Amino acid sequence: MESIDWSNLSFGYMPTDYNVRCIYKDGKWGDITVTSSQTFEIHMAATCLHYGQEAFEGMKAFRGKDGKIRIFRMDENAARLQSSCRGIMMPELPTEKFNEAILTVVKKNERFVPPYESGASLYIRPLLIGTSAQVGVKPAKEYLFIVFVSPVGPYFKEGFKPTPMAILRQYDRAAPLGTGRYKVGDYAASLVAGEKAHELGYSAVLYLDAKEKKYIDECGPANFFGIRGNSYITPKSTSILPSITNKSLMQLAEDMGMTVEVRQIPEDEIGTFDEAGACGTAAVISPIARIDDLDENKSYIFSKDGKPGPICEKLYNKLRAIQYGDEPDTHKWITIVE
Ligand SMILES: *Cc1c(COP(=O)(O)O)cnc(C)c1O
Repeated sequence: MESIDWSNLSFGYMPTDYNVRCIYKDGKWGDITVTSSQTFEIHMAATCLHYGQEAFEGMKAFRGKDGKIRIFRMDENAARLQSSCRGIMMPELPTEKFNEAILTVVKKNERFVPPYESGASLYIRPLLIGTSAQVGVKPAKEYLFIVFVSPVGPYFKEGFKPTPMAILRQYDRAAPLGTGRYKVGDYAASLVAGEKAHELGYSAVLYLDAKEKKYIDECGPANFFGIRGNSYITPKSTSILPSITNKSLMQLAEDMGMTVEVRQIPEDEIGTFDEAGACGTAAVISPIARIDDLDENKSYIFSKDGKPGPICEKLYNKLRAIQYGDEPDTHKWITIVE
């Protein structure tokens, strides 16, 4: 067995021993199967290939100091996948099936869960795709659910550091009444804007609402939040994906005695924030150093000294401590893999 250099993992795909699958056919879900094949055959007219009938999830498992493996908010991911299924007319995968698949794939690949000291984790990627042939635009009759895993390194290799983000008004990620609120395969729509932001030296695009270009939406694959005084403020919008990390941070902010506001945030208001961040499973929090609205020639600065703000840092440390089992799981967010 090859040995893994845990401290030099990136956020990428690394083959593991097994993945799990479950097929929907004749109106029902089958049994979960385990395989070591990394590929599958698919009909060329499958709906996922032409019409984007595809949803996915992203979650992580962590190894604690005690050696135990902890999975973060598995039920929330199951519920969100069901919401995505309703959004693009796929059969909902029952929570018990989802949980069984996750627990099976993590147990089978236990040797790929990084040790506590590395700060790395096991990324879990469930996906559900329409597989049966269709030429007219209609939902498929057959579906395939797959869960694979990959060990991933700590997101902040050079420490927890703020990065600049850009508002690029000529691009939209999702339409107000479209599928932005579902975790579906519409990321292709954000690739050009993302690439452009990277070329210009930004870590990500901060999208405005597509209709009025007035309110803050989200940062590509992560939700946005701002801190002002004792308030945690995050956008309300029909085109953002409800982040489970954001939901957890809102709870922790409330636990810390902060006021949580979920409402429309006009762009100008971010100029009044003391701190700002992007949040998601990959990084927990990516503190934002500065937001440049390139077309309007405006800049909003949150960090001048290259350090994250104190509230971002506190929330980040608290959530990570719960995920790794260093602090008590008072909200029942953790499933221990037995
Ligand atoms: C997955 C995702 C997020 C982050 O959600 P988490 O549950 O916190 O990982 C945010 N925005 C989009 C568009 C996403 O796909």
